[in-house]
Amino acid sequence: MSSAPVYLAHPSSLEHDTGPHPERAERIPAIERELEARGWLGFTRVESPAASREALLAVHPERHVEMIATAAARGGGMIDADTVVSAGSYTAALHAAGGAVSLVDRLLEGSAPTGFSAHRPPGHHAEAARAMGFCLFNNIAVAARHAVDAHGLERVMIVDWDVHHGNGTDDIFHEEPRVLFLSIHQSPLYPGTGAAADVGSGPGRGYTVNLPVAPGSGNDVYRSLIDHVAVPLAHRFAPQLLLISAGFDAHAHDPLADCLVTEEGFAAMAGSLRDAAAGLGIPVGGVLEGGYDLRALARSVAATLEVLGDAGADFAAVSGPGAGSGAAAPPVSADAQRALARLDAFWPGIAA
Ligand SMILES: [Zn+2]
Repeated sequence: MSSAPVYLAHPSSLEHDTGPHPERAERIPAIERELEARGWLGFTRVESPAASREALLAVHPERHVEMIATAAARGGGMIDADTVVSAGSYTAALHAAGGAVSLVDRLLEGSAPTGFSAHRPPGHHAEAARAMGFCLFNNIAVAARHAVDAHGLERVMIVDWDVHHGNGTDDIFHEEPRVLFLSIHQSPLYPGTGAAADVGSGPGRGYTVNLPVAPGSGNDVYRSLIDHVAVPLAHRFAPQLLLISAGFDAHAHDPLADCLVTEEGFAAMAGSLRDAAAGLGIPVGGVLEGGYDLRALARSVAATLEVLGDAGADFAAVSGPGAGSGAAAPPVSADAQRALARLDAFWPGIAA
């Protein structure tokens, strides 16, 4: 495929004014300065459209969409103790969801081999009818639902490596077997959900995979869960699309959490997921979530994009988890062993 990887953004992200707040407008220019300095790593920049009403309403009830629109039209205010709406927030949120939807369209139509949707507000804490945790609409959920509804996909996998549990995405797809949601998150930490025992419900049982990790967890813990849990699960589930809820607040320098992942760790996780997707013959794309140390965020996004967009990777030669990502896979950690033992109830033989 000769098309270039795509970086989706929109100026409205800068008009979501949160005041003195870790989730601040400066995050986006910090990322873009780093990418600019690195020649955009081969990514083509594209301006995101606003999400269609149809795509939004497939996840969020109309009253929720109207609540955000009305709050912004009135000049904004606090939704909860952490979550701000400003006059520009509704437009920003429409484009944040629209960027993720457009990423899915481009990946599934084959016009981009991979891509990254870089907007604010982030999305993974937003439930269908509840904005929370800096999030107004659940961008990645809207995009995954669009992949199912508009493109007819039967299996979409979301890997959420943001340091916080993606409670909104978990909730939205709790009963949905067509969307497998896997989250690695620090516990205890906001929002307090995401216990290992939360495995989905109804027909979605086994399609929600929560992998809480202790404060202080670093590259080896995260990478072991990606290589030894997420990747084997991807091979069993056989998704037609892989999306990453890519927060970078598990970074060692992040002020909001206590994990110790580095740029190299994010690159390694991205490499393992890229190789898994290549092995399955499916596209993979990322949607920005958290990440609040500007330098760590910018460098980690760049490290991730460099790996995702690595057209030189020899996908055909991929032979195992982590192959081609530049470092040997770590051994199966205790966390990964426990997770595999639990998953065996739903995916027999996965622990073998
Ligand atoms: Zn986060």
